[in-house]
Amino acid sequence: MFKAQNYIKASDLQEALELNKKRTNKVLGGGCWMKMGKKNINTLIDLSSLGLDKITETDDEIIIGAMVTLRDIETSPVIEKYFGNYFKDAFTHIVGVQFRNCATIGGSVFSRFGFSDIVTSLIVLGTEVELAGGETVSMEEYSQRDYDNDIVVNIHIKKDGRKAAYESFRNTQTDIPVLNCSLAYDGKKLYAAVGARPMRGKVSTMDCSDVENSEEIFKFFEKIQAETEFGTNTRASKEYRKHLCLVLLKRAYKKLVCKEGEQ
Ligand SMILES: Cc1cc2nc3c(=O)[nH]c(=O)nc-3n(C[C@H](O)[C@H](O)[C@H](O)COP(=O)(O)OP(=O)(O)OC[C@H]3O[C@@H](n4cnc5c(N)ncnc54)[C@H](O)[C@@H]3O)c2cc1C
Repeated sequence: MFKAQNYIKASDLQEALELNKKRTNKVLGGGCWMKMGKKNINTLIDLSSLGLDKITETDDEIIIGAMVTLRDIETSPVIEKYFGNYFKDAFTHIVGVQFRNCATIGGSVFSRFGFSDIVTSLIVLGTEVELAGGETVSMEEYSQRDYDNDIVVNIHIKKDGRKAAYESFRNTQTDIPVLNCSLAYDGKKLYAAVGARPMRGKVSTMDCSDVENSEEIFKFFEKIQAETEFGTNTRASKEYRKHLCLVLLKRAYKKLVCKEGEQ
């Protein structure tokens, strides 16, 4: 468990940004990851009074505040309307409901763990990350960046008609994934990401006017499998991950093209 000397509930983002410039101060999300460490923190910066706990829909995007929990996303009718069970499939194995009621999207996006189901699910949707310093950057680019002291304010998911499917493989139900993958299709392009390799996920794209042409699409998956770098850790070998890559991509594809009611 970490120790903190002070706690400040920021009254605006500027105050939070100023406080976060000091390396020994830390922004507090759900605290689920932080409590696993033993850091000595000077000041904990709480964002919970900044109204960042909402999911809002505009004409062209869904905006998710940094303090929205993983469970809020899983159960949101707005998210369900556009993405069906996609986020439920991606988040359901993350520890348990009580945990997901605390863990925030801001803390998860900032942490951008290699094994992250959150990052792998977001990068194929053309998601953007809005930072308190004023910058908005694609989730894919953000996920490859080094850690800095900026603050995640919102994430923006475009409503461009993408349908998506998610698959992961774990040694036990709620362990972190051995491999995860996501697919999204907007009618013109197929977007695929493979994460927990154990490195962070990357997006590969294919022009595709007919998503039912499985022969072409399986060739694309084989190319991803051949060109993707996999690693070995205590959970699995790189050879096993490489084998799983094709299996999970094909399972996700089956889900993606499955007509309503068939699943
Ligand atoms: C036991 C365990 C198992 C897990 N299993 C999985 C899994 O299977 N799949 C998966 O995808 N994830 C998994 N996770 C990660 C989890 O889903 C969350 O991503 C993680 O807990 C971070 O969210 P949080 O809100 O708790 O962040 P916190 O613990 O509060 O913060 C994490 C870091 O982010 C910083 N931070 C928080 N909010 C912001 C912000 N708005 N802007 C900038 N920095 C910020 C904090 O200062 C800290 O450095 C697991 C975590 C744990 C502890």
